[in-house]
Amino acid sequence: MPSFIKPDSYLLRRRVVLVPPDEIKTEKIQQALNQLYEAAESERMDAKKGFLVGISAPQIGLDLRIILVDLDIGSDNLRPGRLQAYINPEIIWSSSEIEEEREDCYSVDPRLFGLVSRSLRIKVTALDREGNRIMEEFSGYTARIFQHEIDHLNGICFPDRVEDEQNLHWVEEQKYLQYVENWKEWPIKCPRSLWLSIKTGSGA
Ligand SMILES: [Zn+2]
Repeated sequence: MPSFIKPDSYLLRRRVVLVPPDEIKTEKIQQALNQLYEAAESERMDAKKGFLVGISAPQIGLDLRIILVDLDIGSDNLRPGRLQAYINPEIIWSSSEIEEEREDCYSVDPRLFGLVSRSLRIKVTALDREGNRIMEEFSGYTARIFQHEIDHLNGICFPDRVEDEQNLHWVEEQKYLQYVENWKEWPIKCPRSLWLSIKTGSGA
């Protein structure tokens, strides 16, 4: 069973490698895709705090530019939809209009949340599982998932995108439902130094 690597792993801090398009149909890449689906689905079976809505290959230790994104889910996180694979995804256009929303991630401490500004609309090119070139436009929450997952391919985790420390929140598991109600004014902050220690593995 593929599992998530630790938040301080080197692979989460670097730009991972392009998949050679002519290798997409090989055993190696198809296996990697299967592993990503397996990791995502097993997390979804045990959803204590919303559903996994996206995943990137480096999060399970694969040095490849592949992500899966749930194309059906809304920010209410009510029910999981279909996860679609995008290989070598690239954002070729993003709107100057931005939106601030809460995010969390399987590759940081599960108690760490943050308000992250992202473009409201984006255009993405990528290759699909069969190696076909695709270009699609996304908006709202789906656009946000793409931006979050593509960041992982470039060594960036969402707390790195949060400029104002006040927008890094700390939420104990039993307070999660309260947080969902009150995330905009959440009083318990996560000091940036705590994120840095999670990221470098130097913390307690
Ligand atoms: Zn993430």
